[in-house]
Amino acid sequence: KLRIGVLALQGAFTEHINLLNRLTDDIEAVIQIKTPQQLESSNLDALILPGGESTTMALIAERNGLMEPLRGWVRAGKPVWGTCAGLILLSNTAHRTKQLGQPLIGGLSVSVKRNAFGTQLNSFVSDLSIPSLGPEPFPAVFIRAPIIETLDDPSVEVLARVTNSDAGGEGENIVAVRQGSLLATAFHPELTADDRFHRYYLEMVREVRGNLGEGVNTSSS
Ligand code: GLN
Repeated sequence: KLRIGVLALQGAFTEHINLLNRLTDDIEAVIQIKTPQQLESSNLDALILPGGESTTMALIAERNGLMEPLRGWVRAGKPVWGTCAGLILLSNTAHRTKQLGQPLIGGLSVSVKRNAFGTQLNSFVSDLSIPSLGPEPFPAVFIRAPIIETLDDPSVEVLARVTNSDAGGEGENIVAVRQGSLLATAFHPELTADDRFHRYYLEMVREVRGNLGEGVNTSSS
């Protein structure tokens, strides 16, 4: 069974925790992470960075001394899933954040554009085809969502695209990727009753733990 940490500084962390708490077959504990001590001592198998407001979240993380420990966690190859603002924090490059001095955790070789649907529509739901989750479409909730503009490494795998007509636009954009131990979605699976994306993440966590050889956390199995 797995121990999952959810960064609980700001944003939609309660929704992730509530959904994870329903997956009792796979999960031993869901732990709120607010400090470096909690990140270090909670014996976590994996971490989730929730949606919210990425600038605010990064500033609070920095004030709590969490940015460097989070970067270390990513560098160590431990599993992290970022949703929406969490995706922005995980990405190596985010539009205009350098100019604005917004710190990122980084590690995911993509560049993202924040509030990419903003001029069209702030929030919308789109039924996405996500082959990794099976044939049924996944109801993806987008709220002031970013898009993934460029994939900057061949190891980044695209899991889902959105057809922009759902947001009143044209063409399509990448909205879910995986790169090794990192998973990122521009939308909010924790806001739906469909738990397939969370279960996909737990499977991925097991796989990564296997690859890390006994793993991240040898005290739970
Ligand atoms: N627009 C937010 C940001 O830039 C992300 C929105 C969300 O997480 N739902 O941080």
